[in-house]
Amino acid sequence: MLKVKDLSFGYTKNHVLKDINFTINIGENLAIIGESGSGKSTLLKLIFGEHDLEQGQIFWKSTEILGPKYNLVVGYDFMKYVAQEFDLMPYTTVEDNIGKHLSRFYPEEKEKRTQELIRIVELDNFAKTKVKNLSGGQKQRVAIARSLAKEPEILLLDEPFSHIDNFKKQSLRRNVFNYLRAKNISCVVATHDKNDVLGFADEMLVLHNKSIIAKDKPHSLYKNPKLPLVASFFEEFNVIDGKIYYAHELKIVNNSELKATVKQSYYNGNSWLIETLFNEQSIFIYHNKPLTEGKKIYFTFLK
Ligand code: ADP
Ligand code: MG
Repeated sequence: MLKVKDLSFGYTKNHVLKDINFTINIGENLAIIGESGSGKSTLLKLIFGEHDLEQGQIFWKSTEILGPKYNLVVGYDFMKYVAQEFDLMPYTTVEDNIGKHLSRFYPEEKEKRTQELIRIVELDNFAKTKVKNLSGGQKQRVAIARSLAKEPEILLLDEPFSHIDNFKKQSLRRNVFNYLRAKNISCVVATHDKNDVLGFADEMLVLHNKSIIAKDKPHSLYKNPKLPLVASFFEEFNVIDGKIYYAHELKIVNNSELKATVKQSYYNGNSWLIETLFNEQSIFIYHNKPLTEGKKIYFTFLK
């Protein structure tokens, strides 16, 4: 398993991460979330051994992960890392990039494996295209495929689908996470996207102010977010009397003790999100039709 123990780190005197502790079992998928600048990428780089820790230790099974001060070459064979800024060979083709680290002594296996990975990231039509001629999202898919070429034991993904358009995102996410699951490859994913987490992560860790402020199964944190920061990752939410309610947990009714004034209606495909003013506070409620500004409405709680 991966064990992160009492980890502290800063690029300067100021800490980016302080006293971080967690473990991941073999084959598990852990999602790391947090606002921009909360240290998600830094944590992945530390797990990869890209920087020396200020304090603490990281282990994969019984191997201690060491930084550049102790390791001539950064990284280990059992671990792959797909950075936010993926670095590919621009003047070579998609298939050459993916197969780069596969042995040329087994040309048939190399070819078969490369084609399998190209299918997983759905780049069949681009196998012979030079990487420099690809879009950002396509490059990101090449980087993911290349990281899987030698089947790591643990994969670190930094916002892996952030450059990929919505047309492709859903199927790609299923392909990649299902592949990792099938091969029992552990995975740590830094992400902004709740869809990377809810359907795929076993555990979810929230970074804020240098620390882990929440860690639990995604559905537990979704059902009971406790903190506005956690709720905001999932959905539009409201704080009423100190309690958190998602917009879908409120309902507009004919009469109740809670009266609000409509400010604006936003179409979202399934319904409308109605922004209302209640006790001088914006309250968001889903509704089956738009409502006109200034209209008085009543709402109630569904939980
Ligand atoms: P996230 O991935 O959650 O957006 P990062 O790990 O990239 O956050 O950054 C965490 C903090 O560390 C930020 O304040 C960022 O400015 C700082 N930081 C990141 N990389 C470097 C670096 N190479 N040198 C100095 N500071 C850095
Ligand atoms: Mg980042």
